[in-house]
Amino acid sequence: MRYSRYFLPTLKEVPAEAEIISHKLMLRAGMIRRLASGLYSYLPLGLRAIRKVENIIREEMNAAGGIELLLPMVQPAELWKETGRWELYGKELLRFKDRHDREFCLGPTHEEVITDLVRKHLRSYRDMPLCLYQIQTKFRDEIRPRFGLMRSREFIMKDAYSFDMDEEGLDRIYQAMYRAYCNIFERCGLDYRPVEADTGSIGGHVSHEFMVIADTGEDKIACCTGCSYAANVELAPCAIGDTPDASTGKEDELREVSTPGRKRVEDVAEFLGVTPDRLVKTLIYIADASPVVVLIRGDMELNEVKLKNILEAELLELADEETVRSLTGAPVGFAGPLGIKGDVRLLGDYSVRGMKNFVSGANRADTHLTGLNWNRDLALPELHDLRVITPEDPCPVCGAPIEIKRGIEVGHVFKLGTKYSEKMGATFLDKQGRERPIIMGCYGIGVGRTVAAAIEQSNDEKGMVLPRPISPFEVVITVVNVKDEIQKSAGDDLYQAFLSRGIDVLLDDRNERPGVKFKDAELIGIPLRITVGRKLKDGLVELTVRRTGETRDISYDDSLKEAEKALSAY
Ligand code: ATP
Ligand code: MG
Repeated sequence: MRYSRYFLPTLKEVPAEAEIISHKLMLRAGMIRRLASGLYSYLPLGLRAIRKVENIIREEMNAAGGIELLLPMVQPAELWKETGRWELYGKELLRFKDRHDREFCLGPTHEEVITDLVRKHLRSYRDMPLCLYQIQTKFRDEIRPRFGLMRSREFIMKDAYSFDMDEEGLDRIYQAMYRAYCNIFERCGLDYRPVEADTGSIGGHVSHEFMVIADTGEDKIACCTGCSYAANVELAPCAIGDTPDASTGKEDELREVSTPGRKRVEDVAEFLGVTPDRLVKTLIYIADASPVVVLIRGDMELNEVKLKNILEAELLELADEETVRSLTGAPVGFAGPLGIKGDVRLLGDYSVRGMKNFVSGANRADTHLTGLNWNRDLALPELHDLRVITPEDPCPVCGAPIEIKRGIEVGHVFKLGTKYSEKMGATFLDKQGRERPIIMGCYGIGVGRTVAAAIEQSNDEKGMVLPRPISPFEVVITVVNVKDEIQKSAGDDLYQAFLSRGIDVLLDDRNERPGVKFKDAELIGIPLRITVGRKLKDGLVELTVRRTGETRDISYDDSLKEAEKALSAY
């Protein structure tokens, strides 16, 4: 590519719309431009990086037995109604009608469409295993699109779906996909970790997320410092020991105390002169239209994913003010387990079990109870592991301390089982001629997010330092003075030589000051720069390695060979 004829609008200033480094650099390096909230144009440079990631994905998916196809992005509502997700998917599903008043959505994922295709054509166990994948644009009407390609509304995803006749078959494909994912993220040069994960709205029973370790990641992962255990905190189980209670000795008198305007745990604790762990926090949720009351020790955080899974709820949200008032007779902030009105399910986290003489809301405005004790004042609720794991918790596998790291979810693999095939009647005839539902898996990678995550991990004060396999260009030939015919034609010849070797080369033949050209090359992070300048009269050019900044003179005649050597080490 000749820079002078290319479309590469770099920016000197950091755009105000960007908060994190990858987003800033993608804008500055002219890779993407925002069209509207969560919608980005991929500029030629950005598209090059995306295509490189796609090609790595394609190679590894094909090697693992995947077969590529391409499904429509627009999907009919009927299919989503068959699985019940038309109602359940929420506002992220962008629904609309066509001119005939028929309902459609933009595909956020393709389980329904692929299952529909497969049920029409797959007949027998002999047709399996089958693994189909596509690389395609998805749309999710995200509530808070941010960080550029990291969380956009329109984004490119590789999604694969597997079909087999039994759990062993599913397990084999799952392992093959898992390994392919490791290869993909390794080839993209990422510091990543597979972690145990919740299955979310996709469903199923086993799943792993592939997390790129980065401080700006939106996910938290619990990593063991002793063994290889790692899980999304949404899922990581907490040890179920009784939490030792600070208060010992006899049971105090149960008392009502006035706590005017004190609603938050910290405020109540401070007002009463106790620590937050002396409080039982009472949270009220609506799970699939029924209210539930959940208790947890005041200093701990409720894990909504665990709660949702225990309730086997499809939809879970904090109760609105009106529901809280009708259950407690009090405004939000004064709920407690004693005297909740009506027949509601009461759940507690294990952390409340060992508590004595504790404090809770009194279900009356501006009032709390102190000196509460289980059995004497109220029965223990049904107990579950409902809290978010903390660094104080031991590893659930080996007991060593855990640490909480931040991660960017770049890939996700799920064992779906028969969730979709049963609802949609996707069956096959087994060896005995019996009709059985197909066992499915699904496997996603965010392509744009992978590029952004790589930039998040690989940058310095000058710009991006992308790993070679996903860098838009591998080599830039910078002609210092394009008005100098000798330099210009030497640059041209070198450019042709690199092209003929299949190297992705950018020829910076712009009539600009060398400083400007160097800065742009550094911003884009092209692994090698060959500078064709005044030393050419001695038969020399300069070779600069972006990652180390190291520069050395090499002979013009050897530059292709030297560059190939340096590239293979990059
Ligand atoms: P998240 O929890 O980040 O919202 P998800 O769990 O809903 O993601 P999946 O349904 O597992 O996402 O989708 C597969 C992959 O698609 C994710 O691992 C991620 O890399 C990518 N992805 C999902 N949502 C987005 C988005 N809004 N923008 C960019 N990539 C996304
Ligand atoms: Mg996911």
